[in-house]
Formats: sequence, C-alpha cells, structure tokens
Amino acid sequence: MAEIKLSEMRDLTRIERIGAHSHIRGLGLDSALEARSSSEGMVGQTSARKAAGVIVKMVQEGKIAGRAVLLAGQPGTGKTAIAMGMAKSIGQETPFAMLAGSELFSLEMSKTEALMQAFRKAIGVRIKEETEVIEGEVVEVQIDRPAVAGAASKTGKLTLKTTEMETVYDLGGKMIEALGKEKVQSGDVIAIDKASGKITKLGRSFSRSRDYDAMGPQTKFVQCPDGELQKRKEVVHCVTLHEIDVINSRTQGFLALFTGDTGEIRAEVREQIDTKVAEWREEGKAEIVPGVLFIDEVHMLDIECFSFLNRALENDMAPILVVATNRGITSIRGTNYKSPHGIPIDFLDRLLIISTQPYTPEDIRKILDIRCQEEDVEMSEDAKVLLTKIGEDTSLRYAINLITASALACLKRKGRVVEMEDISRVYELFYDVKRSTQYLMEYQSQYMF
Ligand code: ATP
Repeated sequence: MAEIKLSEMRDLTRIERIGAHSHIRGLGLDSALEARSSSEGMVGQTSARKAAGVIVKMVQEGKIAGRAVLLAGQPGTGKTAIAMGMAKSIGQETPFAMLAGSELFSLEMSKTEALMQAFRKAIGVRIKEETEVIEGEVVEVQIDRPAVAGAASKTGKLTLKTTEMETVYDLGGKMIEALGKEKVQSGDVIAIDKASGKITKLGRSFSRSRDYDAMGPQTKFVQCPDGELQKRKEVVHCVTLHEIDVINSRTQGFLALFTGDTGEIRAEVREQIDTKVAEWREEGKAEIVPGVLFIDEVHMLDIECFSFLNRALENDMAPILVVATNRGITSIRGTNYKSPHGIPIDFLDRLLIISTQPYTPEDIRKILDIRCQEEDVEMSEDAKVLLTKIGEDTSLRYAINLITASALACLKRKGRVVEMEDISRVYELFYDVKRSTQYLMEYQSQYMF
C-alpha cells in the first residue's frame, strides 16, 4: 500500500471546499422587498425571491407560525438557493433547520422521530435570566499569586468604588483569571457578572481623568456609576427546543449535540420540557421564537410523514415549514395515488406555493460569473460564452459543475486562464443527463436488466 506522507496529508486538509450555495449571502432584496437583479449572490428569479422575502419578513415580525410554503420548479431553478437565501437573511436568533426528504429513511430512528427532531431544531426558546452585576471604578487591584503555579489557593482583592461607597471585594480564583485577561487597573470602570465572573471594561473614570491626561483621545472617560453597587441585569440566551431535549435526555447528554448522534428522544422527556417551557412563558421568563424548517425533496416523504406534518403544524409553537420539489404529477409515496408534486391534496391545500422559473441565458451567464469568482477560476470571455450555451442546452447545475473540472484541465496543461478548449475537453469527459440517457438507449442491450 502506498504510504501517504504527513506533509501530503496536511496539503490535502488545507484544500478549502466550496459548497454549491456558498455564493448565496441573502435574498438580494431592497428595503421595499423588491428583488435587485443581482445582489447578495442571487440572480434573476425575482418574483420567487420577493415572495420568499415576504415570508422572511413575516417570520421576523413573529406574525405567522405553523404555515407552510412550497417552492416548486424544475431542477436547478434555484429552490435550494432561495431557501439558503432565506436562512441567511432571517437573522442569527431565528433558528433555521434543513433536511432532505431522503434523510428521513435512516435506520437509526423512525421517520416521525427524525421529523420531530427537525421540527424542534426549528423552534427557538429565548430564555431571560437575571444576573447580578457589580459596577464601579476600580480603586485598587491586589492579587496574591500562589507560590506554586496553578495551585488552587489564588486569592485577591478588588476595591471597587462608586460615588457613594467604597467596597472591597474578595475575589475567587475565577475572577482573578478574568481580571488577569482584562488587565484591569485602578481608574478603570468595570462591570462584573457575579455568576460567571466575567469582567467588562466600561471605560476610564472621570475622577481619575487628570492622572491620565497623557493617554490621548482614545481613552474613554465614563462617569462612575452612582448608587447601588449591585445591579440586576437581564441576560438573554437563545436555544432550540431540540437542544433542550438533548441536554435533558439522560442517556445522551449534551455531548450528543456535538456528535449529532442523539438517537431517539423519549416522549416523556419532551412532555416535561414542553411543560417547563410553558411555565417559563407564563412567568415571562421565556419566549418562543418560531423559526424555519426547510425540507428539500419533499416528494420523498410518504403518506405517514405528510400526516405527521399536518398535525405538527397545528401546534402553537410550530415553525414555518418550507418544502421544495422538482416533481410534477407523481405518486404519493406509500400509496397508489398520484397527485401534483407527489403531495397529498389536503396538505397541498395548506401550502403557499412559490414557483421558480427556468433561467434566461443572461441569468445563466451571471450565475456562472459569480460561481467563477467564488471558485477563484479565471475564464476567458469565449469560454464563458460556450459554458453559458452548455448551461442553456443541458442544465445550470451541469454547467456549474464544469467550472471546477475545466479549471483542473487548464491546470493540467499549465494554463492560467480557462479557455474554450478546456471547456470542450471536460464536456466530452463528463456526460450531462441528456447524453447519458441517449447513450443508455443506444447500448441498453449490453446492460443488465
Ligand atoms: P433541484 O430541484 O435539482 O434540487 P434546485 O431548484 O434546488 O434544484 P439549486 O440547487 O438551488 O436548484 O440551484 C443549482 C445551482 O445554481 C446551485 O449552485 C445554486 O446555488 C445556483 N443558483 C440557482 N439559482 C440561483 C440564483 N437565482 N442566483 C444565484 N445562484 C443560483
């Protein structure tokens, strides 16, 4: 067996992978929710992008929950790209979960459990907590370093002053560490979070400003906080219901959140959590943030999954469900019935439908330009024209795939700019669907039946 040298392995890991949608940074809409012709990596498909923007706006304003949207259109017309754009523009605090219909059919958990987990990944809980904060001017910092490094006996004193009082704080080891990092000195105005020991510098104190004249204009002088040394401050944490489930499911623990190997979560655990969250909501300690769950290839779902979705959307905590399909009229999995997109009529009836349209040659060209930039590939004008033509005749995705391949062909002939010959070369090497089908038809007698 050939040995791989360590240096080669390092080189391999250094290669950055560029995802198919890495160029999408949002929906590219203006403040009136109109789609800019090319913005945030998005090109064309203006009415679908606008419709998606309206949904995002409604989610952000908390106006809708439990609604479902269908992105329907031919392959490669940007359904997943639009869902990604929604995810990017929805904001950090709103959860966005995504899965492909086919992922539900895993051996590790039942389909409905996988769907339930996906739903709960898309429901956020904003938990408000009050912590005690001490704020004041540092009069003196005294840290008694232990004789042996790392010994647990670190002690220290911090004299904090406000305009009304001067208090000496005994510091625990944790706070000393934090102080060390922050390099707090006398004259600083700081806030200490008592629970975590976290220290935030608020600025320099007025009372000592004369001593610091030499510090220049960057120094921020703040008024020393008045009155109470102990303040209560509201801290907000955002987690998803799924994260709370995993942390509380005794067999798995929170480590499972990192491995993703959460297994099935017992119904009792979820019930307890729902009851607890309901209590927090009543006491004003928590708010529900319905997010977005995106299910791609929704035609892969079967009739049981659809009835689960129907029920799950009735829950008052339900997220917005966005599903996508490129299928026309086809069978509903698990039945002998056909329906539009393979979706049962009753479920279809509750969907807001956004349709995506085939791209114009100009749009294809612009998307290819963006992808060349994203993949750091320099391509001549002729080659781009040819690639656009290929995109029109085959599919956008096929043309996008040829960018990397042609760049490799160019590298092989020690070129720097991808030319028409590189495109033709990889076009001959890799078949698109049409040519592959044609080949199969011609030679089908030589294949196994
Ligand atoms: P399928 O039905 O086969 O799943 P799809 O409709 O989900 O296809 P995408 O995967 O979103 O299509 O699009 C194919 C490629 O083209 C992706 O790399 C995507 O990021 C890019 N793309 C599609 N539409 C746009 C667009 N409007 N602007 C920029 N890039 C786009």
